[in-house]
Amino acid sequence: MIKLVLATNNAHKVSEFRSCFAQKGFDVEILTIKETGFDGEIVEDADSFEGNAYIKAKTLCEYTGMIAVADDSGLAVDALGGAPGVYSARYAGDGASDDENIDKLLAELKKRPDARRDAKFVCAICVCRPDGETLYVRGESEGLIIDERKGDGRFGYDPVFCYPPMGKTFAEMDSAEKNSVSHRGRAIEELIKQADFLAK
Ligand code: IMP
Repeated sequence: MIKLVLATNNAHKVSEFRSCFAQKGFDVEILTIKETGFDGEIVEDADSFEGNAYIKAKTLCEYTGMIAVADDSGLAVDALGGAPGVYSARYAGDGASDDENIDKLLAELKKRPDARRDAKFVCAICVCRPDGETLYVRGESEGLIIDERKGDGRFGYDPVFCYPPMGKTFAEMDSAEKNSVSHRGRAIEELIKQADFLAK
């Protein structure tokens, strides 16, 4: 069985990784940052999703000597020039809650009442191997930002991200549904296609 460290403390991401791998029948044991004993600070100061994913994966790979996988993800809204983008987690300020970030997003869009609501979620995954090899995969999911929150599942911007082909927000989907069309699910699908890289 493949054993790897997932370079995140976000419980939602951990659970989505575990369920995506399970859904695809991919046998893998995932260790979280906490379980490795790492308690340092990781400064995500790159200006791209891939850059931040690399910083996280590299740090945990060096610390553990194991294969490390990191996901850096976020929401890019066309009418906001791609914002919040790499700042998605702290759009309303450092330590902002999901609700505060959504409120800020809706307030920004309210200033542009005629603008289109197109947006996409992006997930960049970086894998760092102890032998120094690095792999990147990316998944995206396109949708529309709606004015009212719908659904109470999932996390982050899910309640205001409507996925038109299913006519519901990510927060209204169960985990298998979200995984089948989400940016993270698609990135993990790409990762599994390159499972040989993980097995070395
Ligand atoms: P990261 O931990 O730096 O990658 O920040 C990701 C941020 O983007 C999260 O805190 C959420 O605000 C947002 N985000 C990423 N993926 C999702 C998702 O699947 N649903 C909703 N929000 C997400």
